[in-house]
Amino acid sequence: MEKMTQRVKEIAMCLGAKSVGIATTETLSEGPPSADIRYVLPGARSAISYLLPLNQDHIEPYLKKKDRRSYELDNIRTSTLVSGISMEIADYLIQKGFPSAPQAANIVYRTDTPNGPLDEKPPVSHRYLAVRSGIGHFGLSGNIITKEDGASVILGSVITEAEFTPTKPLPPEENYCDGCRLCMASCASGYMSPDETINVSMGGVNFSYSRSRHHNRCDYVCGGFTGLHKSGKWSTWSPGRFPIPEKDEEFFPAIINTAESYQKRPREEGGSFHFLIPGNRIEFTCGNCSLVCHPDKEVRKRRHKMLTESGVVVQNPDGSREAFSPEEAKRRIAAMPLEMRKFYEIIPDRGEEKHDG
Ligand code: SF4
Ligand code: SF4
Repeated sequence: MEKMTQRVKEIAMCLGAKSVGIATTETLSEGPPSADIRYVLPGARSAISYLLPLNQDHIEPYLKKKDRRSYELDNIRTSTLVSGISMEIADYLIQKGFPSAPQAANIVYRTDTPNGPLDEKPPVSHRYLAVRSGIGHFGLSGNIITKEDGASVILGSVITEAEFTPTKPLPPEENYCDGCRLCMASCASGYMSPDETINVSMGGVNFSYSRSRHHNRCDYVCGGFTGLHKSGKWSTWSPGRFPIPEKDEEFFPAIINTAESYQKRPREEGGSFHFLIPGNRIEFTCGNCSLVCHPDKEVRKRRHKMLTESGVVVQNPDGSREAFSPEEAKRRIAAMPLEMRKFYEIIPDRGEEKHDG
């Protein structure tokens, strides 16, 4: 099996992976539910975990709100490639006599949880497989970070009954995460808890990262329903200006209340499809927590500055978006015809607006 272990890693690398590792039922033992690879394949013994980097050239124009589409396209194509590589590896193993299950890169959820896919629980967590097999570290953000590409990577996994030789986790001292918290400062939804961490143990190895608050936070902001930071000074690529709630339980009602406005906004070409999104079509508007997280702290600081100094996005009638100063964005939205303006914000009554200046 050592020869097969090497062969399967070679296949992943030949197909475009930048790094590849192996986790097994032993190295994942006692882990969280989504580290249980037998959920997707009852006879599973191993998981092949690998990653592909995103193109760094598209990240800063995206954060500066100069070019959204190039990053979106790169992310979509890289994710599709990752899912395809998983399928090719799984097919190879199946032909060799090892039952195997390729995992899609993202947007696949368990259907047997209390609320089904609405709970957004993945069949297996690519992240747990990645840290345990040593292809990346956990950053404080909970994202997988890598010494060359930071958190700008797409993870892939194949689950198999083949008994491969596991690879070791990376040494914790090589983790570049210094707790700078720029990931949190770049998140308009407050998804990452600033003061609570969670500890996870898999196969006797411990990992920790910030506790994630309710996933509806990220759904609301990264999903594009709204995007204006509570400071009012910067936004994601979402043109929505609906308020961002404080409490976890307020986010789902906020999504429901803004769903119709979201769906009626004009669309640019492109985007991808997500069955939980109103209209099923999603345009990339955030991802900021991972995109700012570069291994070089100076680059991280620069990217955070780009994000927070590039203004507030306003949508044009043809669906295109432009960033303006907070004041100019406010003026432009206020000047929109009422039937368009309500796609982006709660319309204040006339008295309030006058008072507001
Ligand atoms: S942005 Fe800073 S705190 Fe967050 S994961 Fe990256 S290095 Fe760690
Ligand atoms: S993708 Fe955006 S909204 Fe979601 S956690 Fe990251 S920064 Fe926050």
